[in-house]
Amino acid sequence: MAPKPYDLIGIGIGPFNLSLAALLEKAPELTSVFLERKPSFDWHPEVMFEDSLMQTSYLKDLVTPVDPTSPYSFLNHLVDRNLFYQFLNTQRGTIARREFEQYCAWVSQKLAHKLQFETAVSAVSFDGGLFQVQTARGLLQSRSICIGTGLVPRIPECAEPHLGPRVFHAKSPELKNVNLEGKSVVIIGGGQTGIEVFRNALLGKWGHPGSLRLVTRRKSLEPLDESPFTNDYFTPAYVDAFWGLTLDKKAQIVASQKLASDGNTPNYLLDLYNDLYRLKHVEGDTREIRILAYRKLVALSKTGSENYTLKLENAFYDQTEEMRADVVILSTGFQNAIPSILDPIRGRIAFDHEGRFQFKKCYDIRWDGPPENKIYALNFSRHNHGIIDPQTSLMAWRSAVVINDLAQRPLYKTESSPANFVDYGTKETRS
Ligand SMILES: Cc1cc2nc3c(=O)[nH]c(=O)nc-3n(C[C@H](O)[C@H](O)[C@H](O)COP(=O)(O)OP(=O)(O)OC[C@H]3O[C@@H](n4cnc5c(N)ncnc54)[C@H](O)[C@@H]3O)c2cc1C
Repeated sequence: MAPKPYDLIGIGIGPFNLSLAALLEKAPELTSVFLERKPSFDWHPEVMFEDSLMQTSYLKDLVTPVDPTSPYSFLNHLVDRNLFYQFLNTQRGTIARREFEQYCAWVSQKLAHKLQFETAVSAVSFDGGLFQVQTARGLLQSRSICIGTGLVPRIPECAEPHLGPRVFHAKSPELKNVNLEGKSVVIIGGGQTGIEVFRNALLGKWGHPGSLRLVTRRKSLEPLDESPFTNDYFTPAYVDAFWGLTLDKKAQIVASQKLASDGNTPNYLLDLYNDLYRLKHVEGDTREIRILAYRKLVALSKTGSENYTLKLENAFYDQTEEMRADVVILSTGFQNAIPSILDPIRGRIAFDHEGRFQFKKCYDIRWDGPPENKIYALNFSRHNHGIIDPQTSLMAWRSAVVINDLAQRPLYKTESSPANFVDYGTKETRS
C-alpha cells in the first residue's frame, strides 16, 4: 500500500526545487517530499571549473530575498561553518560557483528529512484525485507536484550524428576525460560556459592544444549587463508588468535582453584578455589561438577517422568559411524539454503552438485536472514569465509565490516590490 499522500512532491533537486523545499519549512501544515535521481546535491559538475563564478549576488540565495530570517540562508551557512568574518574580508560581491554548490549541499543536508536522493522518478499519472509518482523506490502520491527537472543541453542539428568522445556538449561526461594535448580544438559558443571552456583549455587543463579557436555568433565577447536599470528586470515589479504581454511581444523583449542574462562576466573577460596578452606577447606562444566572431556553425562532417570539417557562416563579411578540428566542444546552451515522466498525463496538459507549457501566474500549468491538483513547473517559463525564469535572481520569490498559492494564504510577502523607475505605461483594457 502506498504511504499517506503528500500535499506536494517536488521532482528534481536542483537549486530551484531546493529553494522551494527550504521555504516550505515555514508551512508545516503542508507535507512535502522532494525526489532526485543523483546520490547527493551537485550543480552542473561537468562544467564546474576552479575559475567559475556566480553571475548573481550571494544575497540572492535560496531564501533570503523573501525570508532573511530563514536558517537556510547563505549567511547562516557561513556562520555555521565559522567563516563569516573571513568571508567578509574577501570583500567579494559574488562568489565562486563551487561555493554556491557547497552552500546548496549544506542546505540539502539540513533538509534531509524531506529530500530523497537516489530516487529517480520514472512516471507521473493521475488517479483518484491524486498524482501517482512512480519512483525507483516505489509509488508515492500527492495532491500537487512541482517539476524541477532542469534544462537539457542544446545540440546543433549538424553535430547530432557525430556526438561522441571528439564532438560533445560541454555539459557531458566526455569533457572530464578529454585529452586536448597537441589537438586542433574548436569551441562553439561565446556564452559564459564557452569562454570558461576556452580559458581552461588555453591554460592547459586538459593538456595543451595545438590550436584553439572559439566560434561565436556574437559581435565579440560581450559583457553581462549588470547596470542598475537593467538589473531592475529581475524584480517582481518587472515580472508583473511583463506578465500581461502577448507571447510574441514577450519573445521579442526576452531576445532583446540577451546580455542581461547571457553576457560574459566582466572580470572574467579581463582575466581572459590578460591571459591571451601574456601568452602571445610576453611568452611568445606561436599556436593558433583565435576568437572567431560573427560566425555560425552550419555544417559538420567527418573528414578523416579522427578529424572533422566545420562550415561556418561569417556574417561580418557575408561569406562561408571552413576549418578542420580534432575535437569540437559545443557550448551551445540549454533548452527546455517536456520531461517524458509526464507522458501518462501528457494528453491532459495544455501546450502552446510551440509545444511549451501554458502557465498561470503562480507557476502552475494549465491542464484539465481538478483545480486543487496543481502541476507547478520551475525553469520552464521564459516564454511566459520572462528573463528571470532560468536565473537564480528571483528563485526565492518564485518559490514564495508557489507556496502562497499552494497554501492559499500569504505565508510570504510577494507583492511588495515598488514600481521600477523605468515606466512601461499602463495596459489599456478594451471593453
Ligand atoms: C554552467 C551553468 C552556470 C550557471 N550559473 C548561473 C549563475 O551564476 N547565476 C544564475 O542565476 N543562474 C545560473 N545558471 C542558470 C540556473 O541557475 C541553473 O541552470 C540552475 O541549475 C537551474 O536549476 P534547476 O533546479 O532548474 O535545474 P538543475 O540544476 O538542472 O536540477 C535539476 C535536477 O533534476 C534532476 N532530475 C531530472 N529528472 C529527474 C527525474 N526523472 N527524477 C529525479 N530527478 C530528476 C536532475 O538530476 C537534476 O539534479 C547557470 C546554469 C549553468 C548550466
